[in-house]
Amino acid sequence: MVRFTVLASGSKGNSTVVTGGRTRILVDAGLSCRELFRRMKLAGEDPGTLDAIVVTHEHQDHINGLAVIARRLGIPVYFTEATHRAWMRWLTPRRQMSYAQWLEQCRRQAAERQAETRTVDEEGEPDEPESAVEVQASAEISKASVNAGSAQSDPTPQDPVKSDPAWLPAVEYFQAGQPFAIGDLNVSPFTIPHDAADPVGFVFTAEGVRMAFATDLGYVTPNVRAQLKGVDLLLLESNHDLEMLRDGPYPWSVKQRVLSRVGHLSNEAAAGFLASAYDGQAAYVILAHLSESNNLPELARVAAERALAGRASLLANRLLVAAQHEPLSAIHF
Ligand SMILES: [Zn+2]
Ligand SMILES: [Zn+2]
Repeated sequence: MVRFTVLASGSKGNSTVVTGGRTRILVDAGLSCRELFRRMKLAGEDPGTLDAIVVTHEHQDHINGLAVIARRLGIPVYFTEATHRAWMRWLTPRRQMSYAQWLEQCRRQAAERQAETRTVDEEGEPDEPESAVEVQASAEISKASVNAGSAQSDPTPQDPVKSDPAWLPAVEYFQAGQPFAIGDLNVSPFTIPHDAADPVGFVFTAEGVRMAFATDLGYVTPNVRAQLKGVDLLLLESNHDLEMLRDGPYPWSVKQRVLSRVGHLSNEAAAGFLASAYDGQAAYVILAHLSESNNLPELARVAAERALAGRASLLANRLLVAAQHEPLSAIHF
């Protein structure tokens, strides 16, 4: 069985379930745990059967519910190492400090490192660092996982979440350009140009079916173009209409960011790819990550239809538009 279910797509949260054989993975965890479970039920998917979460990049709309969902289901999270680090930094809000305060912090950290080394030498294991901020943060996380209905009993002082707000049941690293397998699903991550630490798109393969996932990219690089060849399903970003963005409510700096080579793909750019570089082989083309402020589903659809120029039919290039607030019907192969 091969199935592809978009649960949410857009700047307020992204999540998709990909099923291949007996394996089921969640691509990005941008919804809260509660909302994710609600949408999965709506789409006929069972949260309890998820085997893993794979993450494209650390922007909030892709990782908002990550820790709670992974802990609740007790499943591993697949990241690149740089994305994992960036996610951990996101969990620990940065504070402004003066130069003097920064020097003082460096001195303190050096002293802590020395003390740690001594502890390791003497006892074989480092002490857990503990500060007021960490205790506060972990208390909040523990509360969140209890509220989410965690099957675990009340957190004890030994609870891993208590000492580390970034605690996950298991973490697996992958690298762009190096395919790997999760159960019956093959996962091929590729680099995309986007303003995150180490963002990737994916091609998922199961039972000979290839499903490509490419959102949050400033432009279609030659490598991305190569990755999107010969796929049976193409999920492609169609973020904004250029005119709507230009005349829209965003401040100038944000408009520049969206339009940049590490921003988001416009309807026009997605259509340009579909018209000139796309091989037309997919059964389904899903337009995704549409902006709610700077796009309309009909504008995205018309631009893509025009680009496909009659190649869209019931048998090939069936065009769908993924939504922010409701799941798309599951696609079966
Ligand atoms: Zn995004
Ligand atoms: Zn992003």
